[in-house]
Amino acid sequence: MTSETGGRARRDHVGDVPVRMLAERVGSTPFFAYDRAAIDARVASLRSALPGDVHLSYAVKANPMPALVQHLARAVDALDVASGAEMRVALDTGTAPGAVSFAGPGKSVAELSQAVAAGVLVEIESPLEADRLVEAADRLGVRPRVAVRVNPDFEVKGSGMRMGGGAQQFGVDAETVPMLLKTLHDRDVEVAGFHVFSGSQNLHAEILAEAQERTVDLVLRLSDDLPAAMTYLNIGGGFGIPYYTQDQPLDLDMVGSRLESLMATRVRPSLPSAQVVIELGRYLVGEAGVYVTRVVDRKISRGKTFLVVDGGMHHQLAASGNFGQVIRRNYPISVVAAGAGEEVTETVQVVGCLCTPLDLLGDKVSLPRAEVGDLVVVHQAGAYGLTASPTAFLSHPVPLEVLV
Ligand SMILES: *Cc1c(COP(=O)(O)O)cnc(C)c1O
Repeated sequence: MTSETGGRARRDHVGDVPVRMLAERVGSTPFFAYDRAAIDARVASLRSALPGDVHLSYAVKANPMPALVQHLARAVDALDVASGAEMRVALDTGTAPGAVSFAGPGKSVAELSQAVAAGVLVEIESPLEADRLVEAADRLGVRPRVAVRVNPDFEVKGSGMRMGGGAQQFGVDAETVPMLLKTLHDRDVEVAGFHVFSGSQNLHAEILAEAQERTVDLVLRLSDDLPAAMTYLNIGGGFGIPYYTQDQPLDLDMVGSRLESLMATRVRPSLPSAQVVIELGRYLVGEAGVYVTRVVDRKISRGKTFLVVDGGMHHQLAASGNFGQVIRRNYPISVVAAGAGEEVTETVQVVGCLCTPLDLLGDKVSLPRAEVGDLVVVHQAGAYGLTASPTAFLSHPVPLEVLV
């Protein structure tokens, strides 16, 4: 028996495998399971909504499981990494190094050297980083291909996480980009273009479209200072997914049609050789994943029912509300119960097995009655789950991950 919360139908299968059978197949709980068919469907919907000449890049930090990255590498055009280790995972997929981009502040000299040696495109986040990169390239005798990550001179409202505009650790302030480009003029580097990423988890098509328009305005202004024609233009992403009951899914068709007119009126005429890239993490994988836990205890405390499960915030921090959320809300949760028959619903606290009140997965959540041994499934767990959680906290074993 399966049920749902959050007003949306929730998967009781991963691929074509029922969650209960999958738990047997995996052999232990808790675990993460990712649905390759759901990922493929998501890529297909992006392909049909977005202009055909816009490339899709997967931001590996959303979920770096090697099998999943391998799967996505065949479906998308490029991979974006944010550490040397992610770069290795990306290169292992066989993706052409030139289709791997490396973003993020504080890249080490070792990471920059690795990127240059591999032929990965480096997204420059500061003048000092530019110097280090050029030194690494000179040392290796390689002409690196770089883009400048620009901290835009505008802000995008409605993002779950703002990563551009105002003062930022990300990118080079737009107004100082011409100066940086000047210092690169007489160095042996190929400055291919720009990367502008203004924020994450945005569910508002109108705002995303506006951000893309302002991004294009900005890079058109900056393009005069490029030494050669722009060949790379990463306009970011930030496409959000619905986590909470009141969230409405993103209107992808609107984003796509606004982008098509932006391409037609501004980008193709003014930047004919620029490859436009959209870079997405959670939108590609977030809804394709579940975190499956098992009820280990059921207890009543002063009238409240607690389901204690064998997982928790050490694996799925975001579902506990401690991953940058201002207000704690429940992620969608469902129960897979062994007992068939009549469904009795009850209001429960779903808590993890860590000895801290922060380890709360479901607050006053309405679920069918679950007994010890039944499964509790946390949905929307395909992005920023295991690797975005404090797995060492309380020293429990690391859960398995499977791609179905
Ligand atoms: C984290 C990140 C992403 C992915 O963000 P999502 O919200 O998962 O789509 C994309 N680009 C950059 C530069 C990032 O840092």
